[in-house]
Amino acid sequence: MKPSFFHIENFSCGYPGFKLSGINLSLEKGSFSGIIGPNGSGKTTLFRGITSSIATLEGRIFLKGKDLQLFSLKERARKMAIVTQFTDTDQISVEDYVLMGRMPYHHRFQFFESKNDVEKAHKYMQLTDVFKHKDKLMTELSGGEQQRAAIARALTQEPELLLLDEPTSHLDITHQVRILDLLHRLNQEMGLTVLMVIHDLNLASEYCDQLVLFNEGRLFTQGTPEEVLTFDTIEKVYKTPVITRTNPYSNKPVIFLVSEKMMKQGGENR
Ligand code: ADP
Repeated sequence: MKPSFFHIENFSCGYPGFKLSGINLSLEKGSFSGIIGPNGSGKTTLFRGITSSIATLEGRIFLKGKDLQLFSLKERARKMAIVTQFTDTDQISVEDYVLMGRMPYHHRFQFFESKNDVEKAHKYMQLTDVFKHKDKLMTELSGGEQQRAAIARALTQEPELLLLDEPTSHLDITHQVRILDLLHRLNQEMGLTVLMVIHDLNLASEYCDQLVLFNEGRLFTQGTPEEVLTFDTIEKVYKTPVITRTNPYSNKPVIFLVSEKMMKQGGENR
């Protein structure tokens, strides 16, 4: 059997009070997948496990058939980039911050970026709409602008696999759609494989081919948005009543929340 592009096998990691366990997940090259699940279900913990910021307790992760532990840091950074929820915002200009994405490509005694590095950084700053802020300090940007700069840096790394932990959490609707459209375009045109944690179930449904639903430190179910976003699954995991319908334009499932007031008026027709 051909090994999948990114494969997580019986993986477990965590902290003294919380263990993520039995995670099996395979991503094909060029897939666009979303991890969803309630707060505290272990989504960020998985990302920390993948990037070895916390120790693996069990299992292995393979990228292009090779155990991730066997990659050098530089080699791994050329294949895989991660955008976390917390951006390092030291006293560094936006341009220098984004240019750090080229470091995995620098040779041993290279202290300055090349013309090609600068061109790539500018291209991704333009695509994420932060080029106009390039001379500002990272600390002078809003949360959403910092998030877009972090995405620009990860794209400047030109990875094959991009992991994003809630990339749209600080973004207004214009930038949510703009960033997700950009990721989708890079996925379609350049075969970028995307795995992102995303809270908004409707955005997850619209953009992802595959959804992975976490609950209480375990993988509850995975499949297409149609398979995962059913009202009984969502209610079971999120413990809140919802109504599901189909978006008439994209034919993807859409979730509507049901308030207590609406429930009292009779929300049976789900
Ligand atoms: P999610 O991303 O799904 O919201 P997390 O993976 O961040 O959830 O957290 C899962 C659980 O691990 C939570 O119960 C959280 O309190 C716990 N946790 C997160 N970070 C730490 C830490 N550094 N030390 C101990 N427990 C933690």
